[in-house]
Amino acid sequence: MKKIVVATRNDGKVREIKDAFSRLPVELVSLADYPDVGEAVEDGSTFRENALKKARFYHEKTGEACLADDSGLEVAALGGAPGVKSARFAGTDTKDASDKDNNEKLVKELLGLGLMDSAADYRCVLAFIDEDGTELVTEGRCDGTIHVVPHGMGGFGYDPYFYVDDERTMADITLEEKQKISHRGAALRDMCDKLADIWK
Ligand code: IMP
Repeated sequence: MKKIVVATRNDGKVREIKDAFSRLPVELVSLADYPDVGEAVEDGSTFRENALKKARFYHEKTGEACLADDSGLEVAALGGAPGVKSARFAGTDTKDASDKDNNEKLVKELLGLGLMDSAADYRCVLAFIDEDGTELVTEGRCDGTIHVVPHGMGGFGYDPYFYVDDERTMADITLEEKQKISHRGAALRDMCDKLADIWK
């Protein structure tokens, strides 16, 4: 069975990636299994740059095939912010903030503009590097609405504020439903197809 290091410590992402890869003959391990591996610097200006930076860094450090996800939320009324800074929106350039603090800042910024909601999208870029250095990149996007009133108990990150229709947020729907419509679901399906193709 092929081993792939998933370059994240975000349990929400690991859950979604494991679920999507269940049809491939792979063993997925996360950075939780590499406590001393260090931290890739995410200073790229695009999701693609950051996904590739992370995949290359952890591939080099572990010597294993590596899959990295860079993703985030783009809010139209905020000019596309928080974008590549989604994880550290309420933090600093080098320090991520908690989901709670990021969500509070998001609500505050929208209310500061006199808005209760805004069109928004989630974006995800996946970068994979095989043991031999072969690189693959896939992307996905999901359109929705950010509303200042949260709803639902599931998901992670901005999900309770990201409405997929008039009533339900990403935190209301099951993992199976999220995989069907989400940015990460789309990028993961494409990646699974590409991997099945190169490993056949
Ligand atoms: P990254 O680890 O630099 O890719 O940061 C991604 C950040 O974007 C996460 O910490 C979340 O705040 C946000 N994000 C990405 N994908 C999702 C999602 O599916 N749901 C909710 N928030 C997400």
